[in-house]
Amino acid sequence: MSPLEVDVYDLNVRNSRDQDLKDRIYERLMGRSESDPETSCQVYLGAWTDHGNAKIRVGQRVFNLNRVAAWIFFETFELWGENIAFHTCETPACFNPGHLGVAKDISEALREIHRLRRPRQPGRRLNKEKATQLRLRHFDEEATANILATEFGLSKTSAQAVIENKTWKDDAFYERRKRCA
Ligand SMILES: [Zn+2]
Repeated sequence: MSPLEVDVYDLNVRNSRDQDLKDRIYERLMGRSESDPETSCQVYLGAWTDHGNAKIRVGQRVFNLNRVAAWIFFETFELWGENIAFHTCETPACFNPGHLGVAKDISEALREIHRLRRPRQPGRRLNKEKATQLRLRHFDEEATANILATEFGLSKTSAQAVIENKTWKDDAFYERRKRCA
């Protein structure tokens, strides 16, 4: 038997043992949780640390709920590894796998959390209707670029660019206004 075959054999034995353990812990989690129909969060109702993290015992050690859930649901996630599990929803006790993310280390986790929770890009906060509203607020109601930036969640430069018809171009709007003036 080549060394490789030995490795594969060991891995299979370990995986099936892991799977039994995962199944038992999954049952335990499901038995002590409730689903929230509004958010689809699966909320664990068991033990908590002082920091507000749910804790789960696996064998001799106690782990954070995120970690245990990721280990159950994501095939390659290692409970004892460097890999990181994190939430993409607002409920710390949730273990819905759809609300969990995994990363290979802390820096990848931070990038992912940032990406997933980042507010939408300024350019995407507008559409044609909103650009028209913004212009009307400026030309009819004298709202300044500063005020409009706050109202529409834009930078002042972006608001100014819309007012000056540089972005979200709408020549017809300016033509109409010229005719009315
Ligand atoms: Zn959730």
